[in-house]
Formats: sequence, structure tokens, C-alpha cells
Amino acid sequence: KEQQTQEASFDDLDLSPVMRRALKKAGFEKPSPIQHALIPLALDGLDVIGQARTGTGKTAAFSIPILEQLDSLEDCRDPQAIIVVPTRELADQVGAEAARLAYGEPTEIAVLAGGKNITRQLRQLENGVQIVVGTPGRLHDHLQRKSLRTNKVWCVVLDEADRMLDIGFRPQIERILRNCPRDRQTLLLSATLPTTVRRLAESYMVEPEVIDCSKNEMAVETIEQHYFTVDQNKKSDLLEKLLHREKPSQAIVFCRTKRGTDRLCRQLSHQFDECGSMHGDMQQRERDRVLQRLRDGKLKILVATDVVGRGIDISTISHIINYDVPQDCDDYVHRVGRTGRMGRDGIAFTFIVPGEGEFLTSIEQRINKQLKRDQIDGFEA
Ligand code: ADP
Ligand code: MG
Repeated sequence: KEQQTQEASFDDLDLSPVMRRALKKAGFEKPSPIQHALIPLALDGLDVIGQARTGTGKTAAFSIPILEQLDSLEDCRDPQAIIVVPTRELADQVGAEAARLAYGEPTEIAVLAGGKNITRQLRQLENGVQIVVGTPGRLHDHLQRKSLRTNKVWCVVLDEADRMLDIGFRPQIERILRNCPRDRQTLLLSATLPTTVRRLAESYMVEPEVIDCSKNEMAVETIEQHYFTVDQNKKSDLLEKLLHREKPSQAIVFCRTKRGTDRLCRQLSHQFDECGSMHGDMQQRERDRVLQRLRDGKLKILVATDVVGRGIDISTISHIINYDVPQDCDDYVHRVGRTGRMGRDGIAFTFIVPGEGEFLTSIEQRINKQLKRDQIDGFEA
């Protein structure tokens, strides 16, 4: 198996010269396992459910076959592929990755995310678009307005599929899928795909192929994972001490609530330069600004809720700190997966308060690995 991964080459995949050049330009030397497995099936027009751990190139895995089969704008002015993602930031990121891989070919990609100027989106759709990347709410909005035409769509992607099909988004997703032609292709990707979601997903697909690259490569394998036991009222002290000890090049600190996020960020700014916070109540423009500062390396510590727990790809993030434990084990995998991208190293710390011991055990079962107990010298937690 290892052998096979090592020998995997883009030569195996029957890609166009233009795409080969784009891949070279992007610095992609060989396909990741999910890319190697998914691209040929997708090029054959099959429906695919693909599971692979965070940071292993799922975006390119679905973008490459779409770009390879795209009709030119002269031949078709209506969207041919719709990529649905759970957050606005992820929509921007996926749009940018697709544009990068389209290098050399003029390609119209519209990012239809909420919180952004709709007039501009309407104009862009009117002018002709080949690929749409969007969040469920805003896509649904465009369907209502009849500004998003779906009759030419031949591929729908649900990225972070388990999140897309959870209760919150399901009505919009179903509406989007129902609107698209029946003989379209459906691709479904995530690092975590519970059986229930898989079953549900199958009802939207036609005899899907299932690729599971997460079996052999355990989720978040390259990431060192620690935990602290700590009393609730000592968490913020512990965090400050930990940040002083670790001196992360860039860290994301995950909190449960929006208010807690702001409060903690304010508190940290007294001691640390370049802190920022991000959560769902902030204006989109502010969220974009914070994320850009993080990408530019200007922000060192981001305190955030799970809005950034999914998909966001910033290779310089060295540390993940779960100040509050996540809702469930899948959320843990996604949060921790913001570091250790494409096989790089990363480290994660999880704060466990008395009474959360069971959660620790369930994480360990989920990732099939024990978290190391950690302590700060001289600090009584
Ligand atoms: P995932 O969706 O699986 O979490 P992403 O699609 O966000 O992962 O990709 C993670 C990073 O790896 C991105 O920066 C992407 O550009 C890069 N990447 C993707 N495929 C390759 C490849 N074949 N070689 C090198 N880098 C890659
Ligand atoms: Mg992704």
C-alpha cells in the first residue's frame, strides 16, 4: 500500500497538458492518495463518496476532474458545476484553489457566499459562469431569485459532506440537489463520514463508489496530541502559560461560545501581540480581514469558534488549542486538522475539565491513539 502511494504519479491519471502545467505551476509533484483514487472515477462520470484525512488535497481531487471536463464559456454560459461548502471562508478558499488549478485556461468561477454583496453576484451570474462555489444559504437564495440556473449542471460537489447534510443545512442542500438535472454527477467529500450520513447521502446518488483513504492513514497522524486536566476557572491562566512555553509560530485557540471567544481574545491581547478573534456574529468583512491577516502571518493567535474548524488551509499553523472541548469527536478531528497539512508537523492541546474524562476516552477511541498528558512546570491546574 505504502509502495503504491510512493509510486503514484500524475502520469497515471490521463490529464490534459494544460492541467499538467497548472499542477507543475502549483508545485504539486505527485497526487495524494485521495486524488489518485478519486480523479479517474470522477473523470468516468461516476458518483463518488470520498473520505480522506484533513489536509490531503480533497479540494484538488474534485476540482481537477471538473476543470478537465468543463465546456468553454462560448459553448455554455450557465453553470456546469456547483461546489457546496459549509462556510463563507471555505467558499473563498475553494474558489481560489480551483482558479489556481485552472491556470492557463480562462475560467469563470463565481463564489456565492453569504455576507457578500449580492448585486455583484447577480451581475457575475448574468455575465456567464462555469463553476459556482457557494454556501447552502446563499445558493438557495439565488435559486429563489432564479438567478442561479441549474439546467446545465453536470456535477455537484458536497465538500465537508457530513456538515452539509446535518440537520441545519439539509433543507437547502436537498433543494439544490433537486433543482439540478437527475443525470448529474454527485461527489461527496469529508474527513469524517458517519455511517448514518453515508446512508443518507446514498439516497441522493446513483450507485456511488466509496473511497476510504482514512482507513490506512489514521486521521491526523502527523499531529502530536496532548491534553491538560484543568479546573474551569484556571483555564485562562493555563492558556497564557502554555502560550509562553510553546511560543507557537501561529496558533488557533478554539472556544465554545462567541462571547467566550471575544472575552478570551481581549484577555490575551494584554500579554500577546497580534491576537484576533473570529466567530459567526462578526461582519463578513471583518472575518475576511482576520483570516487574511492569519494567512499573511501577521496574526499569531486566533481565538475562534468552530466557524474555522472546517476546511481552512493555512500551512503555517503550528498549534491547535482546544480551550473548550468540541461538541463531538468529528469536530475534534476537524479542528486538530487545521495543522499538520500535507504531512507537515503540528501539535494540538486539549483542555479537559473535571467531568469531561469520558470525552477524552471517546476521542482516543476515535483516533485510535492516546493523547499524552501534559503539565506546565510549577503550575497547579
Ligand atoms: P483537505 O480538503 O483534504 O483538507 P486541501 O484541499 O485544503 O485539503 O489541501 C491541503 C493543501 O495541500 C492545500 O494547500 C493544497 O494546495 C495542497 N495540495 C493539494 N494537493 C497537493 C499535491 N498533490 N501536492 C502538493 N500539495 C497539494
Ligand atoms: Mg477540504
